[in-house]
Amino acid sequence: MTTFVRADAVDTSPTAARAKALAARYDALDAEALLAALAVHEFPGRIALVSSFGAEAAILLHLCARIDPAFPVVFIDSGRLFVETLRYRDELVARLGLTDVRSVGPEPAAVALADPDDDLWARHADGCCGLRKVVPLQRALAPFAAWVTGRKRYHGAERQHLPKIEPADGRIKVNPLADWTRNDVEAYLTRHGLPRHPLVAAGFSSIGCVPCTDRVVPGEAARSGRWRGGAKTECGIHLRLRDEAAAAAS
Ligand code: SF4
Repeated sequence: MTTFVRADAVDTSPTAARAKALAARYDALDAEALLAALAVHEFPGRIALVSSFGAEAAILLHLCARIDPAFPVVFIDSGRLFVETLRYRDELVARLGLTDVRSVGPEPAAVALADPDDDLWARHADGCCGLRKVVPLQRALAPFAAWVTGRKRYHGAERQHLPKIEPADGRIKVNPLADWTRNDVEAYLTRHGLPRHPLVAAGFSSIGCVPCTDRVVPGEAARSGRWRGGAKTECGIHLRLRDEAAAAAS
């Protein structure tokens, strides 16, 4: 059985040492220069962007396409996404000319076994995210040594102290926009004329699966509409994984 471990647990792995060295070399670069340095010099062909095609996703998709339209992009289709997100994915892919977008999802047999009534999200949200997002992502990341996320410190909660480069389950995880503000996001989208996710205009500032995404009201944190009413704030792809047996032995 898989469980999640807080990402801020002490990590003494070789990947952690590599992350530290990369941060010392590249941390001061802006987002595009950081991405280019890692894609060209450190992980050629072995780095992927993991994108939700959500409210702010167009920025990194645009940056990656500028570096190389064949920059690999992984999109996790949990099977519970808004149809607007799927249409937005197709629109952005065409607009930016991205040629290597990999839509991945849970195995139908695994869903039939673990979530036959489509209600796992209500009974065990962490298990649902594990089934529909974390396991598919782990499979999709197998060819890669590093991956890129769009997380930002201004999102709050676990993200407030987000580094730009960190270790994650044996890979390097890169957060080029960690220090961007909401204003930076808006300015970039406007400057480059990038299309907005259609649900932003309907009051959604962070967009995930239908059952677990709510609108936010002015003044609320950007992600306060995710898993509203519960303690859960992350889907699990940004927490470390470990096997229960290994955990028990540690
Ligand atoms: S966000 Fe909700 S519906 Fe989507 S995988 Fe997680 S628990 Fe399931």
